[in-house]
Amino acid sequence: MAVTPIERLGKDALQAKGFFGAYKWLILRRITQAVIIGLFIAGPIGGMWVLKGNLAGSWLFETVPMVEPFVFLQMLAAGMFGFLTTTVVGVAIVLAFYALIGGRAYCAWVCPVNVITDAAAWTRRKLGITQSAKISPQTRFWLLGAVLVVAALTGQLAYELVNPVSIVHRELIYGMGVAGGLVAAGIFLFDLLIARHGWCSHVCPMGAMYSLIGAVATVKVTSPNRVQCDDCMECFEVCPEPKILPPALKQGMRQGHPPVVDAMTCTRCGRCVDICSKDVFAFSLLTLGKAKRAEPGESVGKEEERGFKKAS
Ligand code: SF4
Ligand code: SF4
Repeated sequence: MAVTPIERLGKDALQAKGFFGAYKWLILRRITQAVIIGLFIAGPIGGMWVLKGNLAGSWLFETVPMVEPFVFLQMLAAGMFGFLTTTVVGVAIVLAFYALIGGRAYCAWVCPVNVITDAAAWTRRKLGITQSAKISPQTRFWLLGAVLVVAALTGQLAYELVNPVSIVHRELIYGMGVAGGLVAAGIFLFDLLIARHGWCSHVCPMGAMYSLIGAVATVKVTSPNRVQCDDCMECFEVCPEPKILPPALKQGMRQGHPPVVDAMTCTRCGRCVDICSKDVFAFSLLTLGKAKRAEPGESVGKEEERGFKKAS
């Protein structure tokens, strides 16, 4: 009987690359997420104020302001123009950072909800749940617009009262309460029972906003080794946005670059890089300007190694 991609998921990578090679980006992400939460908690609990505040707005070493662009956008929509210069500087710092590394890196490396949705995806695979409600990925952009309209109509940051990211993060810092528990359970069950990668890849307006600042980022996932692809489909199983993979696997090179995975949508989670025993994918620093998407049928070969630096 044929072995399904789920049944053999990760086994080839483990054999070919060893444990660290097969999980390195996942391990680094979990460490990063834990360290960020830990630095926020260290202040209230131990008086060590490396990060003061929360994800919406914080101070690094009580000196460098950082302001969440999504919250700032809502402030602008709500007509709250009485902000300080430090707020603008804080937004600029955060925007510049994510514009450089990719907006949705926030989703995979910082957002606490990511752990919940990753856990739901893992549980889905273990339980063999394959059915999924059809929700358009564009829904999140409509919801982003709706959040801004509500802010404009109410003059308030209304969405922040129900934003799962803010609720979960706040309660992780100051103690998990009923609201945080309910939100976490709701998102987990939604992703587990209703829609595969339902919340982050279809609904979350915050993720939608971060995708808008990811298109020109320097750090991208490319497929320099796609000629080695044996169609095992394991990357499709682990990618939270699997629809972005086919173009990177099926297209040829252009202007010295291998195909680039859709930079707006890719969360830079690195799971496709880890899970592939053939090392088809890699994080790349595209330093020669914006990489163009290649057209189907263009040649692939050794010359594609020119023009980009492989970073993993
Ligand atoms: S899509 Fe939203 S909830 Fe999901 S990881 Fe990104 S910001 Fe967090
Ligand atoms: S393409 Fe790779 S790095 Fe990007 S979201 Fe999918 S699995 Fe993660």
